[in-house]
Amino acid sequence: MSIVVDRCDLCGGELRSGTTILQFWRGGELIVIRDIEADVCQQCGEAYISAEVSEHLDHFLMEHHRHQPERYFAVPQYSAAQAMSA
Ligand SMILES: [Zn+2]
Repeated sequence: MSIVVDRCDLCGGELRSGTTILQFWRGGELIVIRDIEADVCQQCGEAYISAEVSEHLDHFLMEHHRHQPERYFAVPQYSAAQAMSA
């Protein structure tokens, strides 16, 4: 998560209004929030969210368990041992 800048911090590419999907680990649970307003780098795809959006997300993450998720989906997990032996 980064704050808004004029150009991409990573590659200097142009930022345009768009949306992004973010993942957060909370208490051993992976939480995904889609369609978050963001300035997205047209070159590398890095997304920058505003301080205001970031504050909303922080607040939501503290009380997310009070909301019914729109859906659940399975996520594959591998061990480092598997990855290193491939
Ligand atoms: Zn970039």
